[in-house]
Amino acid sequence: MDEAFDAIVVGAGPAGVTAARELAQAGLTVVVLERGAFPGAKNVWGGILYREPTEAMLPGFEAQAPLERPIVEQRYLLLTEDAMMGATYRSQRFATPPYNAYSVLRSPFDRWHAETAEAAGADVYSEFTVTDVVWEDGAVVGVTTGDPDGELRARCVVLADGANSLLAQKIGLHAEWEPLDQALVAKELIALPAEKIEDRFALESGTGTALEIFGESTWGLLGYGFVYTNRESISIGTGALLGDLIESGRNVNDMLDRFKKHPSIAPLIQGGETVEYSAHLIPEGGYDRLPRLYGDGVVVVGDAAGFVNPLNREGVNLAMLSGKLAAQAIVEAKVADDFSAASLARYRELLAGSVVFADLKKIRHVTPFAHARPHLLRDYPQLLSAMLGEYLSVDGTPKGIKQKNMLGMAARLPKKRLLGDLLGARKLLG
Ligand SMILES: Cc1cc2nc3c(=O)[nH]c(=O)nc-3n(C[C@H](O)[C@H](O)[C@H](O)COP(=O)(O)OP(=O)(O)OC[C@H]3O[C@@H](n4cnc5c(N)ncnc54)[C@H](O)[C@@H]3O)c2cc1C
Repeated sequence: MDEAFDAIVVGAGPAGVTAARELAQAGLTVVVLERGAFPGAKNVWGGILYREPTEAMLPGFEAQAPLERPIVEQRYLLLTEDAMMGATYRSQRFATPPYNAYSVLRSPFDRWHAETAEAAGADVYSEFTVTDVVWEDGAVVGVTTGDPDGELRARCVVLADGANSLLAQKIGLHAEWEPLDQALVAKELIALPAEKIEDRFALESGTGTALEIFGESTWGLLGYGFVYTNRESISIGTGALLGDLIESGRNVNDMLDRFKKHPSIAPLIQGGETVEYSAHLIPEGGYDRLPRLYGDGVVVVGDAAGFVNPLNREGVNLAMLSGKLAAQAIVEAKVADDFSAASLARYRELLAGSVVFADLKKIRHVTPFAHARPHLLRDYPQLLSAMLGEYLSVDGTPKGIKQKNMLGMAARLPKKRLLGDLLGARKLLG
């Protein structure tokens, strides 16, 4: 066999680039094929990058990577049609280095990130769309871009092609994702001067905040809206499980338009200019819907494998870690001169001992729990808003009556359902 490379990586997102860098650092020959005009050209996220897991991959990255603002505050908010309520965590712990997280724009970040793999010795080629893998004797031995001379061969192919992972599907590692296994999110980047952002969100110069907003932001569907502050722009988006969008006849473009017009959101983006619009899938099937992660001559990493923790807004860190662990398994396979599925099973073993599987297992019942209770993001925000409205309005009603009114509102909730929600939630924490 004409073996040009030890590994071919499909996709220059965080998972693929990490795998390529680690492989190159270990002395293996590796090429990355990316369909975009450059790495990051087509990539979409919110996006918040956590510092500690990134530092573990790229020591000293803060001095070089294109970062936007350190996130010093997190707000969790509930929306009804006319109200907003919530909890804010702003801490000096997050406002002083080492920071917890940064807002980041994918286009410059991914471009920079790909250069770290090139510096380690990997070849990264843009504008190459891989259309299929090449088989020989039942093993994957390369990829093709569809042209007669577009075939490249390697001992191992790393599928890092993102949420849809058409290639993993094509070679039978997973069936087509079900609509409830994915969320669809629409996002806009809205340009605003730095001082306006800092005034509107009460931020010290150069610092940032992250808002996650439930309830009316998604018409009460399971999902959430977000507002993240960049240096001179705001990332705003909203989305929900694809299956629920289809069933309810809602679409994410209308959802985002409506979210932007909410009386509590509109002032945050007022006067800004939309400079980018995108929509993207997030794999949210979780641990119970993971695909087969390896085969003869092939491994699957990042979103392509479904490694996303939607609860804690973690995707890129899990993508990077899976890329690193895949690289470790491939380096061991190279030493053993064995790229069979039995040898690459080591990748799954490494994942099983990592935070990737630990966290996906921990949250595996959260989405089914919330999805079985469509009232959660619909009825509870309404109730809370009514109770707070009563408590906070000073209108001559004696406080004892107000208290009774509030208890009366809560008492109207179906008891059995409330108990079921509380017991179910307790079980999730267990
Ligand atoms: C709206 C939104 C908000 C998010 N917010 C956050 C957040 O705040 N924090 C967080 O950590 N995560 C967030 N995520 C998740 C995060 O973006 C993903 O988990 C992460 O990007 C996965 O990295 P990846 O390398 O596996 O895939 P991707 O980043 O999707 O990269 C895949 C790459 O493969 C390329 N590609 C695809 N097919 C082919 C092909 N056939 N040939 C060649 N190249 C191909 C693509 O162009 C792309 O560059 C968010 C996601 C979305 C959609």
